[in-house]
Amino acid sequence: MNAEVLVLNASYEPLHVVSTRRAILLLLKEKAELVEATDQYIRAASAAFPRPLVIRLRQYIKLPRNLSLPLTRRLVYARDQYTCQYCGGHFSAANLTLDHVIPKSRGGRKTWENIVTACKRCNQIKGNRTPEEAHMRLRRPPYRPRYVALVWLKSPERRPSAWEKYITGKY
Ligand SMILES: [Zn+2]
Repeated sequence: MNAEVLVLNASYEPLHVVSTRRAILLLLKEKAELVEATDQYIRAASAAFPRPLVIRLRQYIKLPRNLSLPLTRRLVYARDQYTCQYCGGHFSAANLTLDHVIPKSRGGRKTWENIVTACKRCNQIKGNRTPEEAHMRLRRPPYRPRYVALVWLKSPERRPSAWEKYITGKY
């Protein structure tokens, strides 16, 4: 009963993750519809239900526009999908570091626009240089996220494969 279920906004944007129990409640109250389920059935409220994997809210939840997100290691990794922004490799949090794109020693500040996820090796190679000087291209310019869906905080290895297409938007 404790597995986790991905909740999508009415627009199919991933919103957050809830327990199976909570997901079934949302389905029973018709606040959400079932998108993906396993072929297992579970009993709840004296009926049997397919075990949900992904549900979608019937009503669109408006996300705050100018949410100020704290700049934390975990949130930067989440924004960058646990991917080194230089070599493009996927790593676990233990093998990642935060890199100042413009180094601190050159006046680079700790802002969402100047901090990226880098693997230890790339960070070491880049050292105290700018990406241009080090001839290392950023995969994507760092940006201040509008919001961080809770689901991003789960590293890709820990996410059920049934969630993947909804998270990456590649159907
Ligand atoms: Zn790297």
